[in-house]
Amino acid sequence: MEFTKLGEGKTKEVYNYDSSHVLLKFKDSITAGDGAKKDELPGKGVLNAQTSAFLFRLLESKGIETHYVGMYDERTMIAKKLKMIPVEVVLRNIATGSIVKRLPVKEGEVFDPPIIEFFLKDDARHDPLLNYCHMEYFKLMTRKEAETVEEVMLKVNQVLYPFFKSKGLILYDFKLEFGRLDGKLIIGDEISLDSMRIREEKTGRILDKDLYRKGADLQTVKNAYEEFFRRISE
Ligand code: 5GP
Repeated sequence: MEFTKLGEGKTKEVYNYDSSHVLLKFKDSITAGDGAKKDELPGKGVLNAQTSAFLFRLLESKGIETHYVGMYDERTMIAKKLKMIPVEVVLRNIATGSIVKRLPVKEGEVFDPPIIEFFLKDDARHDPLLNYCHMEYFKLMTRKEAETVEEVMLKVNQVLYPFFKSKGLILYDFKLEFGRLDGKLIIGDEISLDSMRIREEKTGRILDKDLYRKGADLQTVKNAYEEFFRRISE
């Protein structure tokens, strides 16, 4: 790319596009366990870029602001330049994953209202859980900002949960990251099967990165990502 690279994470490269925009190039890498397990899955970058773009457009159409501006090419998103906050915000509708290991809740327990959690983006420490005091101490977010973020998470869930349900899919949980622009908090990063748990309603079949985390072969993972995009976009 002829643009200056600003950074690179496990699954995306970030380039300077102009003074107020970046390019997010989605790589074909797939990782789990805070980068401990890593593979290349050809075509995955395009699928995640397209899935994210589709879901960001859906959120924007419901009045929820995101960093999405448009697509530069099939795997590269044009996004507003944000000052990213290194916090992962997770909303859980149904218990699975880390919460089941951490707290006395059973796999499959329904959370109504949903549970929202904050984690520090720190692979070396395995993304530790944060509360409002931690976030204020580390100057990540004020308590008021954290409450605003929680409201946005609930709004996103109110859009995504029924949308996926209409496609025969259940949204167990999802993770978003936020950034600042002119004092506002805006949704950044991505929304894809790398950052959501999606199960087929009728069969309970897993369609998300848990397949990879649990050791499924790469073709099965790719098929699930393709099937998901086809089902949400048709
Ligand atoms: P858990 O805390 O149960 O591992 O994850 C909760 C939700 O957040 C899941 O949908 C999971 O995919 C997402 N999530 C948690 N940590 C990360 C992370 O480091 N990267 C990404 N992409 N998603 C994550």
